[in-house]
Amino acid sequence: MYDEKGNRYLDCINNVAHVGHCHKDVVKATSDQLGLLNTNNRFLHDTLVIAARKLVSTLPEPLSVCYFVNSGSEANDLALRIARAYTKNKDIICLDHAYHGHLTSLMEISPYKYQRGKFPKRKYVHVAPIPDGYRGVLRGENNSELGRMYADKVREVIESAVGEGRSVAAFIAESAPSCAGQVILPPDYLRNVYRYVREAGGVCIADEVQIGFGRTGKYWWGFQLQGEDVVPDIVCVGKSMGNGFPVAAVVTTKEIARSLAATGIEYFNTYGGNPASCAAALAVMEAVEKDNLRENAVKVGRYLLNSLKRLADKHTLIGDVRGVGLFIGIELVLDRETRTPATNQAQQIIARMKEDFILLSTDGPDRNVIKIKPPMTFNTENADTLVSHLDSSLGEIAAMASTQEFIENEPKLIKSEDLTSIKR
Ligand code: PMP
Repeated sequence: MYDEKGNRYLDCINNVAHVGHCHKDVVKATSDQLGLLNTNNRFLHDTLVIAARKLVSTLPEPLSVCYFVNSGSEANDLALRIARAYTKNKDIICLDHAYHGHLTSLMEISPYKYQRGKFPKRKYVHVAPIPDGYRGVLRGENNSELGRMYADKVREVIESAVGEGRSVAAFIAESAPSCAGQVILPPDYLRNVYRYVREAGGVCIADEVQIGFGRTGKYWWGFQLQGEDVVPDIVCVGKSMGNGFPVAAVVTTKEIARSLAATGIEYFNTYGGNPASCAAALAVMEAVEKDNLRENAVKVGRYLLNSLKRLADKHTLIGDVRGVGLFIGIELVLDRETRTPATNQAQQIIARMKEDFILLSTDGPDRNVIKIKPPMTFNTENADTLVSHLDSSLGEIAAMASTQEFIENEPKLIKSEDLTSIKR
Protein backbone atom coordinates (compact mmCIF):
# COMPACT_ATOMS: atom_id res chain seq x y z
CA MET A 1 0.00 0.00 0.00
CA TYR A 2 1.09 3.57 -0.59
CA ASP A 3 0.17 6.76 1.22
CA GLU A 4 -0.44 10.20 -0.27
CA LYS A 5 3.30 10.94 -0.16
CA GLY A 6 4.12 7.78 -2.05
CA ASN A 7 5.51 5.93 1.00
CA ARG A 8 5.34 2.16 0.60
CA TYR A 9 3.77 0.12 3.41
CA LEU A 10 3.92 -3.57 4.17
CA ASP A 11 0.29 -4.51 4.81
CA CYS A 12 0.09 -7.23 7.46
CA ILE A 13 -3.57 -6.76 8.38
CA ASN A 14 -5.74 -6.39 5.31
CA ASN A 15 -7.78 -9.55 5.05
CA VAL A 16 -10.14 -7.86 2.60
CA ALA A 17 -7.48 -7.51 -0.11
CA HIS A 18 -7.41 -11.30 0.12
CA VAL A 19 -5.73 -12.28 -3.15
CA GLY A 20 -3.55 -9.15 -3.17
CA HIS A 21 -4.34 -5.47 -3.70
CA CYS A 22 -5.79 -4.79 -7.16
CA HIS A 23 -5.37 -8.38 -8.34
CA LYS A 24 -5.45 -8.00 -12.10
CA ASP A 25 -7.85 -10.90 -12.81
CA VAL A 26 -10.33 -9.68 -10.18
CA VAL A 27 -10.14 -6.11 -11.49
CA LYS A 28 -10.65 -7.33 -15.07
CA ALA A 29 -13.50 -9.73 -14.30
CA THR A 30 -15.35 -7.12 -12.26
CA SER A 31 -14.85 -4.25 -14.70
CA ASP A 32 -15.70 -6.43 -17.72
CA GLN A 33 -18.95 -7.36 -15.98
CA LEU A 34 -19.68 -3.70 -15.14
CA GLY A 35 -19.23 -2.94 -18.85
CA LEU A 36 -21.63 -5.71 -19.83
CA LEU A 37 -24.45 -5.69 -17.28
CA ASN A 38 -24.97 -4.72 -13.68
CA THR A 39 -28.46 -4.58 -12.30
CA ASN A 40 -30.54 -5.73 -9.41
CA ASN A 41 -31.03 -9.39 -8.81
CA ARG A 42 -34.59 -9.62 -10.07
CA PHE A 43 -32.94 -10.20 -13.44
CA LEU A 44 -31.27 -13.57 -13.61
CA HIS A 45 -27.76 -13.82 -14.93
CA ASP A 46 -25.46 -16.79 -15.22
CA THR A 47 -22.59 -15.31 -13.16
CA LEU A 48 -24.73 -15.70 -10.04
CA VAL A 49 -25.24 -19.41 -10.67
CA ILE A 50 -21.61 -19.98 -11.61
CA ALA A 51 -20.34 -18.13 -8.49
CA ALA A 52 -22.80 -20.03 -6.26
CA ARG A 53 -21.69 -23.37 -7.74
CA LYS A 54 -18.06 -22.46 -7.21
CA LEU A 55 -18.66 -21.43 -3.60
CA VAL A 56 -20.63 -24.60 -2.86
CA SER A 57 -17.86 -26.71 -4.41
CA THR A 58 -15.49 -25.49 -1.67
CA LEU A 59 -17.87 -26.56 1.12
CA PRO A 60 -18.71 -30.02 2.43
CA GLU A 61 -22.12 -31.58 1.80
CA PRO A 62 -24.93 -30.92 2.55
CA LEU A 63 -24.15 -27.17 2.42
CA SER A 64 -25.54 -26.38 -1.02
CA VAL A 65 -27.95 -23.42 -0.98
CA CYS A 66 -26.46 -19.93 -1.36
CA TYR A 67 -27.98 -16.56 -0.56
CA PHE A 68 -25.94 -13.63 -1.83
CA VAL A 69 -25.83 -10.47 0.29
CA ASN A 70 -23.62 -7.37 0.45
CA SER A 71 -21.73 -7.59 3.73
CA GLY A 72 -20.76 -9.87 6.58
CA SER A 73 -23.39 -8.20 8.75
CA GLU A 74 -26.13 -8.92 6.23
CA ALA A 75 -24.96 -12.51 6.03
CA ASN A 76 -25.04 -13.04 9.80
CA ASP A 77 -28.39 -11.30 10.14
CA LEU A 78 -29.90 -13.54 7.47
CA ALA A 79 -28.34 -16.58 9.16
CA LEU A 80 -30.16 -15.69 12.40
CA ARG A 81 -33.41 -15.32 10.49
CA ILE A 82 -32.96 -18.69 8.80
CA ALA A 83 -32.01 -20.37 12.10
CA ARG A 84 -35.14 -19.00 13.76
CA ALA A 85 -37.37 -19.99 10.85
CA TYR A 86 -36.02 -23.54 10.95
CA THR A 87 -35.99 -24.13 14.70
CA LYS A 88 -38.94 -21.87 15.61
CA ASN A 89 -36.78 -20.84 18.57
CA LYS A 90 -35.34 -17.44 19.35
CA ASP A 91 -32.31 -17.69 21.63
CA ILE A 92 -28.74 -17.36 20.44
CA ILE A 93 -25.55 -18.60 22.06
CA CYS A 94 -22.44 -16.65 21.20
CA LEU A 95 -18.90 -16.51 22.52
CA ASP A 96 -17.54 -13.86 24.82
CA HIS A 97 -15.70 -11.00 23.05
CA ALA A 98 -17.23 -12.02 19.73
CA TYR A 99 -18.05 -9.53 16.98
CA HIS A 100 -20.58 -10.51 14.33
CA GLY A 101 -21.50 -7.22 12.68
CA HIS A 102 -22.91 -3.76 12.96
CA LEU A 103 -26.66 -4.37 12.54
CA THR A 104 -28.83 -4.09 15.66
CA SER A 105 -29.52 -7.84 15.59
CA LEU A 106 -25.77 -8.50 15.60
CA MET A 107 -24.70 -5.87 18.10
CA GLU A 108 -26.95 -7.81 20.46
CA ILE A 109 -24.90 -10.97 19.99
CA SER A 110 -21.51 -9.22 19.93
CA PRO A 111 -20.17 -8.93 23.50
CA TYR A 112 -17.11 -7.26 21.94
CA LYS A 113 -19.36 -4.26 21.28
CA TYR A 114 -22.08 -4.33 23.87
CA GLN A 115 -19.75 -4.84 26.81
CA ARG A 116 -17.80 -1.75 25.81
CA GLY A 117 -20.78 0.44 25.05
CA LYS A 118 -24.17 1.07 26.52
CA PHE A 119 -25.87 -1.74 24.63
CA PRO A 120 -27.76 -3.97 27.11
CA LYS A 121 -27.50 -7.76 26.98
CA ARG A 122 -30.79 -9.23 25.80
CA LYS A 123 -32.53 -12.09 27.58
CA TYR A 124 -32.36 -14.27 24.49
CA VAL A 125 -28.60 -13.96 24.23
CA HIS A 126 -26.41 -16.41 26.15
CA VAL A 127 -22.67 -15.98 26.27
CA ALA A 128 -20.23 -18.89 26.55
CA PRO A 129 -16.58 -18.33 27.52
CA ILE A 130 -14.05 -17.88 24.79
CA PRO A 131 -12.11 -21.17 24.42
CA ASP A 132 -8.74 -19.52 24.81
CA GLY A 133 -6.18 -21.87 26.35
CA TYR A 134 -3.79 -19.01 27.10
CA ARG A 135 -5.99 -16.37 28.74
CA GLY A 136 -9.43 -17.96 29.08
CA VAL A 137 -11.23 -19.25 32.16
CA LEU A 138 -9.67 -22.68 31.54
CA ARG A 139 -6.01 -22.69 30.66
CA GLY A 140 -3.44 -25.19 29.47
CA GLU A 141 -2.41 -24.98 25.85
CA ASN A 142 -1.15 -28.58 25.96
CA ASN A 143 -4.17 -30.05 27.68
CA SER A 144 -5.81 -32.39 25.15
CA GLU A 145 -9.07 -32.23 27.13
CA LEU A 146 -9.37 -28.45 26.83
CA GLY A 147 -11.71 -28.54 23.81
CA ARG A 148 -14.11 -30.90 25.58
CA MET A 149 -13.91 -28.85 28.77
CA TYR A 150 -14.79 -25.62 26.96
CA ALA A 151 -17.56 -27.44 25.07
CA ASP A 152 -18.94 -28.44 28.48
CA LYS A 153 -19.15 -24.74 29.30
CA VAL A 154 -21.43 -24.30 26.27
CA ARG A 155 -23.51 -27.24 27.45
CA GLU A 156 -23.86 -25.54 30.85
CA VAL A 157 -24.99 -22.33 29.13
CA ILE A 158 -27.58 -24.31 27.17
CA GLU A 159 -28.79 -26.10 30.31
CA SER A 160 -29.17 -22.87 32.19
CA ALA A 161 -31.11 -21.25 29.29
CA VAL A 162 -33.38 -24.29 29.01
CA GLY A 163 -33.78 -24.25 32.80
CA GLU A 164 -35.19 -20.73 32.48
CA GLY A 165 -37.74 -22.04 30.00
CA ARG A 166 -35.93 -20.73 26.93
CA SER A 167 -35.11 -22.59 23.72
CA VAL A 168 -32.05 -22.35 21.54
CA ALA A 169 -32.22 -21.29 17.89
CA ALA A 170 -28.50 -21.17 17.18
CA PHE A 171 -24.93 -21.21 18.31
CA ILE A 172 -22.81 -18.73 16.37
CA ALA A 173 -19.02 -18.50 16.49
CA GLU A 174 -16.08 -17.61 14.34
CA SER A 175 -14.23 -20.81 13.52
CA ALA A 176 -11.10 -19.05 14.81
CA PRO A 177 -12.17 -16.09 16.98
CA SER A 178 -10.36 -13.01 15.73
CA CYS A 179 -11.71 -10.04 17.68
CA ALA A 180 -11.32 -12.14 20.84
CA GLY A 181 -7.56 -12.18 20.18
CA GLN A 182 -6.64 -14.50 17.30
CA VAL A 183 -7.74 -17.61 19.20
CA ILE A 184 -7.30 -21.08 17.73
CA LEU A 185 -10.09 -23.39 18.86
CA PRO A 186 -8.79 -26.37 20.83
CA PRO A 187 -9.30 -29.83 19.23
CA ASP A 188 -12.71 -31.44 19.82
CA TYR A 189 -14.36 -28.13 20.69
CA LEU A 190 -16.76 -27.62 17.77
CA ARG A 191 -17.51 -31.34 17.41
CA ASN A 192 -18.89 -31.40 20.96
CA VAL A 193 -20.47 -27.95 20.92
CA TYR A 194 -22.33 -28.71 17.68
CA ARG A 195 -23.63 -31.93 19.23
CA TYR A 196 -24.92 -30.17 22.36
CA VAL A 197 -26.53 -27.38 20.34
CA ARG A 198 -28.30 -29.82 18.01
CA GLU A 199 -29.45 -31.95 20.94
CA ALA A 200 -31.05 -28.78 22.33
CA GLY A 201 -32.89 -28.20 19.04
CA GLY A 202 -30.62 -25.43 17.73
CA VAL A 203 -28.50 -25.07 14.61
CA CYS A 204 -24.81 -24.21 14.30
CA ILE A 205 -23.63 -21.12 12.45
CA ALA A 206 -19.98 -20.70 11.44
CA ASP A 207 -19.01 -17.05 10.98
CA GLU A 208 -16.19 -17.32 8.43
CA VAL A 209 -16.29 -13.63 7.51
CA GLN A 210 -12.73 -12.90 8.69
CA ILE A 211 -10.98 -16.19 8.32
CA GLY A 212 -12.63 -17.92 5.36
CA PHE A 213 -11.52 -18.44 1.77
CA GLY A 214 -8.38 -20.35 2.70
CA ARG A 215 -6.76 -17.97 5.17
CA THR A 216 -6.00 -20.85 7.51
CA GLY A 217 -4.18 -22.64 4.70
CA LYS A 218 -4.89 -26.32 4.35
CA TYR A 219 -8.66 -25.92 4.05
CA TRP A 220 -11.00 -23.36 2.52
CA TRP A 221 -12.87 -22.91 5.81
CA GLY A 222 -11.82 -22.57 9.43
CA PHE A 223 -14.33 -25.07 10.81
CA GLN A 224 -12.58 -27.77 8.74
CA LEU A 225 -9.59 -27.48 11.08
CA GLN A 226 -11.76 -29.23 13.67
CA GLY A 227 -12.19 -32.41 11.61
CA GLU A 228 -13.95 -33.67 8.49
CA ASP A 229 -17.03 -34.67 10.46
CA VAL A 230 -17.48 -31.14 11.83
CA VAL A 231 -19.96 -29.43 9.50
CA PRO A 232 -22.01 -26.37 10.49
CA ASP A 233 -25.65 -25.99 9.41
CA ILE A 234 -25.14 -22.44 8.17
CA VAL A 235 -21.93 -20.76 6.99
CA CYS A 236 -21.52 -16.99 6.61
CA VAL A 237 -18.81 -15.58 4.37
CA GLY A 238 -17.83 -12.05 3.38
CA LYS A 239 -14.92 -9.61 3.63
CA SER A 240 -12.32 -11.31 1.43
CA MET A 241 -14.98 -12.68 -0.90
CA GLY A 242 -14.85 -9.75 -3.35
CA ASN A 243 -11.30 -8.55 -2.61
CA GLY A 244 -12.83 -5.19 -1.62
CA PHE A 245 -15.91 -5.30 -3.82
CA PRO A 246 -19.04 -5.66 -1.63
CA VAL A 247 -20.25 -9.25 -1.71
CA ALA A 248 -21.00 -11.80 1.01
CA ALA A 249 -23.08 -14.95 1.30
CA VAL A 250 -24.93 -17.39 3.50
CA VAL A 251 -24.70 -21.07 2.63
CA THR A 252 -26.96 -23.68 4.19
CA THR A 253 -28.61 -27.03 3.56
CA LYS A 254 -31.65 -27.60 1.34
CA GLU A 255 -33.69 -28.70 4.33
CA ILE A 256 -32.95 -25.55 6.31
CA ALA A 257 -33.44 -23.29 3.27
CA ARG A 258 -36.89 -24.79 2.70
CA SER A 259 -37.96 -23.61 6.13
CA LEU A 260 -37.20 -20.00 5.18
CA ALA A 261 -39.21 -20.36 1.98
CA ALA A 262 -42.02 -21.93 4.03
CA THR A 263 -42.40 -18.75 6.09
CA GLY A 264 -43.96 -17.24 2.98
CA ILE A 265 -41.80 -14.13 3.35
CA GLU A 266 -39.76 -13.79 0.21
CA TYR A 267 -36.04 -13.25 0.61
CA PHE A 268 -35.20 -10.24 -1.51
CA ASN A 269 -32.03 -8.18 -1.60
CA THR A 270 -31.67 -5.56 -4.35
CA TYR A 271 -27.91 -5.69 -4.69
CA GLY A 272 -27.20 -9.08 -3.16
CA GLY A 273 -25.87 -11.25 -5.97
CA ASN A 274 -25.60 -8.46 -8.54
CA PRO A 275 -23.58 -9.44 -11.61
CA ALA A 276 -20.47 -7.40 -10.80
CA SER A 277 -20.27 -8.69 -7.20
CA CYS A 278 -20.64 -12.26 -8.41
CA ALA A 279 -17.95 -11.72 -11.04
CA ALA A 280 -15.63 -10.40 -8.32
CA ALA A 281 -16.40 -13.35 -6.00
CA LEU A 282 -15.83 -15.88 -8.75
CA ALA A 283 -12.54 -14.27 -9.76
CA VAL A 284 -11.36 -14.26 -6.12
CA MET A 285 -12.06 -17.97 -5.69
CA GLU A 286 -10.31 -18.70 -8.98
CA ALA A 287 -7.32 -16.58 -7.96
CA VAL A 288 -7.01 -18.46 -4.65
CA GLU A 289 -6.64 -21.64 -6.71
CA LYS A 290 -4.63 -20.33 -9.66
CA ASP A 291 -2.10 -18.50 -7.48
CA ASN A 292 -1.86 -21.41 -5.00
CA LEU A 293 -2.69 -19.07 -2.16
CA ARG A 294 -3.76 -21.74 0.32
CA GLU A 295 -0.45 -23.51 -0.21
CA ASN A 296 1.27 -20.15 0.23
CA ALA A 297 -0.62 -19.57 3.50
CA VAL A 298 0.58 -22.94 4.80
CA LYS A 299 4.20 -22.33 3.79
CA VAL A 300 4.58 -18.66 4.73
CA GLY A 301 2.35 -19.02 7.79
CA ARG A 302 4.51 -21.81 9.18
CA TYR A 303 7.70 -19.89 8.41
CA LEU A 304 6.38 -16.73 10.07
CA LEU A 305 5.03 -18.58 13.10
CA ASN A 306 8.41 -20.25 13.66
CA SER A 307 10.29 -16.95 13.28
CA LEU A 308 7.95 -15.29 15.76
CA LYS A 309 8.39 -18.16 18.22
CA ARG A 310 12.15 -17.59 17.99
CA LEU A 311 11.55 -13.89 18.78
CA ALA A 312 9.68 -15.02 21.89
CA ASP A 313 12.90 -16.69 23.13
CA LYS A 314 14.53 -13.28 23.04
CA HIS A 315 11.76 -10.91 24.21
CA THR A 316 9.97 -11.66 27.47
CA LEU A 317 7.21 -9.23 26.52
CA ILE A 318 5.91 -11.95 24.20
CA GLY A 319 3.68 -14.23 26.24
CA ASP A 320 2.25 -16.35 23.45
CA VAL A 321 2.53 -16.81 19.70
CA ARG A 322 -0.28 -18.73 18.04
CA GLY A 323 -1.85 -19.14 14.66
CA VAL A 324 -2.60 -21.20 11.64
CA GLY A 325 -1.89 -20.27 8.04
CA LEU A 326 -1.90 -16.49 7.64
CA PHE A 327 -3.95 -15.93 10.80
CA ILE A 328 -1.51 -15.26 13.62
CA GLY A 329 -1.57 -13.54 17.01
CA ILE A 330 1.25 -12.38 19.28
CA GLU A 331 0.06 -11.84 22.83
CA LEU A 332 2.11 -9.34 24.82
CA VAL A 333 2.34 -9.61 28.62
CA LEU A 334 4.16 -7.71 31.36
CA ASP A 335 4.92 -10.92 33.18
CA ARG A 336 4.85 -14.45 31.80
CA GLU A 337 3.72 -15.91 35.12
CA THR A 338 0.81 -13.56 35.83
CA ARG A 339 0.11 -12.98 32.14
CA THR A 340 -0.77 -9.34 32.89
CA PRO A 341 -1.70 -7.85 29.50
CA ALA A 342 0.88 -5.42 28.09
CA THR A 343 -1.76 -3.25 26.49
CA ASN A 344 0.20 -0.01 26.30
CA GLN A 345 3.26 -1.74 24.93
CA ALA A 346 1.16 -3.40 22.24
CA GLN A 347 -0.19 0.01 21.15
CA GLN A 348 3.30 1.49 21.25
CA ILE A 349 4.64 -1.27 19.04
CA ILE A 350 1.86 -0.81 16.51
CA ALA A 351 2.60 2.93 16.36
CA ARG A 352 6.36 2.28 16.10
CA MET A 353 5.90 -0.26 13.32
CA LYS A 354 3.75 2.19 11.38
CA GLU A 355 6.65 4.67 11.49
CA ASP A 356 8.65 1.86 9.84
CA PHE A 357 5.86 1.55 7.21
CA ILE A 358 4.53 -1.74 8.53
CA LEU A 359 0.78 -2.00 9.17
CA LEU A 360 -0.39 -4.10 12.12
CA SER A 361 -3.29 -3.90 14.56
CA THR A 362 -4.22 -5.20 18.00
CA ASP A 363 -7.26 -7.01 19.35
CA GLY A 364 -8.42 -9.26 22.16
CA PRO A 365 -10.31 -8.24 25.31
CA ASP A 366 -7.23 -6.34 26.55
CA ARG A 367 -6.06 -5.11 23.14
CA ASN A 368 -2.71 -6.71 23.80
CA VAL A 369 -2.73 -9.23 20.95
CA ILE A 370 -0.91 -8.13 17.81
CA LYS A 371 -2.96 -9.30 14.85
CA ILE A 372 -1.41 -10.62 11.67
CA LYS A 373 -3.81 -11.34 8.79
CA PRO A 374 -2.20 -10.06 5.60
CA PRO A 375 -3.25 -10.49 1.99
CA MET A 376 -2.67 -14.13 1.06
CA THR A 377 0.17 -13.14 -1.28
CA PHE A 378 2.39 -12.40 1.74
CA ASN A 379 5.77 -14.04 1.13
CA THR A 380 8.76 -15.14 3.21
CA GLU A 381 10.63 -11.94 2.38
CA ASN A 382 7.68 -9.94 3.76
CA ALA A 383 7.73 -12.20 6.84
CA ASP A 384 11.44 -11.49 7.36
CA THR A 385 10.86 -7.73 7.09
CA LEU A 386 8.03 -7.92 9.62
CA VAL A 387 10.02 -10.03 12.08
CA SER A 388 13.17 -7.92 11.91
CA HIS A 389 11.26 -4.67 12.56
CA LEU A 390 9.29 -6.30 15.36
CA ASP A 391 12.58 -7.46 16.85
CA SER A 392 13.89 -3.87 16.90
CA SER A 393 10.64 -2.41 18.27
CA LEU A 394 10.48 -4.97 21.07
CA GLY A 395 14.16 -4.29 21.80
CA GLU A 396 13.52 -0.54 22.00
CA ILE A 397 10.72 -1.04 24.47
CA ALA A 398 12.83 -3.37 26.59
CA ALA A 399 15.65 -0.83 26.58
CA MET A 400 13.40 1.77 28.17
CA ALA A 401 13.16 1.94 31.93
CA SER A 402 11.45 -0.91 33.77
CA THR A 403 8.05 -1.82 32.40
CA GLN A 404 6.22 -0.32 35.35
CA GLU A 405 8.03 3.02 35.01
CA PHE A 406 7.33 2.85 31.32
CA ILE A 407 3.61 2.67 31.92
CA GLU A 408 3.56 5.39 34.56
CA ASN A 409 5.92 7.88 32.98
CA GLU A 410 5.06 7.77 29.32
CA PRO A 411 2.40 10.42 28.75
CA LYS A 412 1.97 9.65 25.07
CA LEU A 413 0.74 6.15 25.72
CA ILE A 414 -2.90 5.38 25.17
CA LYS A 415 -4.93 4.50 28.24
CA SER A 416 -6.78 1.22 27.96
CA GLU A 417 -10.15 2.90 28.52
CA ASP A 418 -9.51 5.03 25.43
CA LEU A 419 -8.95 2.00 23.29
CA THR A 420 -12.64 1.35 22.76
CA SER A 421 -12.69 4.14 20.24
CA ILE A 422 -9.94 2.65 18.12
CA LYS A 423 -11.43 1.08 15.05
CA ARG A 424 -10.43 -2.28 13.76
N1 PMP B 1 -18.25 -11.17 11.36
C1 PMP B 1 -16.97 -10.98 11.65
C2 PMP B 1 -16.21 -12.06 12.32
C3 PMP B 1 -16.33 -9.78 11.31
O1 PMP B 1 -15.05 -9.60 11.61
C4 PMP B 1 -17.07 -8.77 10.66
C5 PMP B 1 -16.43 -7.46 10.24
N2 PMP B 1 -15.31 -7.09 10.91
C6 PMP B 1 -18.43 -9.00 10.40
C7 PMP B 1 -18.99 -10.21 10.74
C8 PMP B 1 -19.27 -7.95 9.74
O2 PMP B 1 -18.91 -7.79 8.42
P1 PMP B 1 -19.23 -6.40 7.64
O3 PMP B 1 -18.38 -5.35 8.25
O4 PMP B 1 -18.89 -6.74 6.21
O5 PMP B 1 -20.68 -6.13 7.80
